[in-house]
Amino acid sequence: MACNEIWAVARIRDGQITGAGLQLIEAARELAREKGLDARAVLLGCDRATADELAGVVNGVLWLNDERLNEYDAAVHAGALFGLMEARGKPVAIFAGTNDTDSEVVPRLAAMCGAAFASSCVKIRWEGDDLAIRRPVFGGKVYEELALLSRPAMVTVRPGAFDGAQKLAAPGSVEEISVEIPASSGVTVVERASSAQGGQDLSDARRVVAGGRGVSGESYQKVEALADALDGSIAASRALVDAGERPHEQQVGKSGKTISPDLYIACGISGAIHHVLGMNTSKVVVAVNSDPDAPIFAAADLGMVGDVMEILPALAEALRARK
Ligand SMILES: Cc1cc2nc3c(=O)[nH]c(=O)nc-3n(C[C@H](O)[C@H](O)[C@H](O)COP(=O)(O)OP(=O)(O)OC[C@H]3O[C@@H](n4cnc5c(N)ncnc54)[C@H](O)[C@@H]3O)c2cc1C
Repeated sequence: MACNEIWAVARIRDGQITGAGLQLIEAARELAREKGLDARAVLLGCDRATADELAGVVNGVLWLNDERLNEYDAAVHAGALFGLMEARGKPVAIFAGTNDTDSEVVPRLAAMCGAAFASSCVKIRWEGDDLAIRRPVFGGKVYEELALLSRPAMVTVRPGAFDGAQKLAAPGSVEEISVEIPASSGVTVVERASSAQGGQDLSDARRVVAGGRGVSGESYQKVEALADALDGSIAASRALVDAGERPHEQQVGKSGKTISPDLYIACGISGAIHHVLGMNTSKVVVAVNSDPDAPIFAAADLGMVGDVMEILPALAEALRARK
């Protein structure tokens, strides 16, 4: 059984649709419109108010209203989406985020239904009746284009690849759907702690100032001050996370977050490929490093060779003066 829909898996953070979630909805809306398909947001758990809010930006919300989905468990979420597919028919495509949860859920789902899966995509377009995606490979040195020939085509999309969906003139409908929810995989949530960024997901930040080993210890305050002057967010390389100086949720790179802000300022970061993989689709990259041969300059649009202790305060002051 099949349905003529494209689904965007909506992730909610602190009761709000994430910026990246709005971008997925826009991707589904744009691509569905081109082929006369229907775009749908899929909401796993949450509440009526959230489902209604989602309906403000997409014509239809498929709401799996079951409180067992409120706790994240990859096997349960993948199983619920599989159940939705069995109940409603296979959609043409499923779009989800390049984030910690969907990067775990969507490949599982693809394996469950034998569908093609492409991660970390920066572009999606139609190639005839198939979806073609573009994504960076080999550390962003080249981009590959793939046509996904299965139904559904499953794609995780990098933040920043699409604009966020705007409100509709008239809200869409909310369909409450019951599906069989698989038993928990045995994961028990023992504690929840709010993030150091006051609930803001780094993936949604438009301006990010990141620090590496070159700003360890108290020097990191210069990164915070610059981020503050920019109304931006802070991030870190793995060197600082491994040293216990920054929380893992601020780590950018292969084993951290993948982000695409408008502006990424890398301070005292050498530019190891594992780091660059997480930020090389940022719109503008600025690197500050005392080593003129640091690899980060190859990934930067603008480079400043010098000491972070001098350059960061000067930048912050200039920004504050402009404000
Ligand atoms: C499987 C795997 C996964 C990994 N995942 C990640 C990941 O997700 N994210 C990540 O970041 N790394 C990751 N790494 C680690 C990565 O390979 C690098 O070791 C790490 O990114 C280095 O961090 P850094 O650039 O802060 O430190 P360094 O490489 O030590 O660089 C410090 C830089 O600071 C500069 N500097 C020093 N003092 C100053 C100063 N006063 N002013 C200006 N510049 C200064 C130096 O010139 C140098 O370029 C991973 C590694 C592996 C093997």
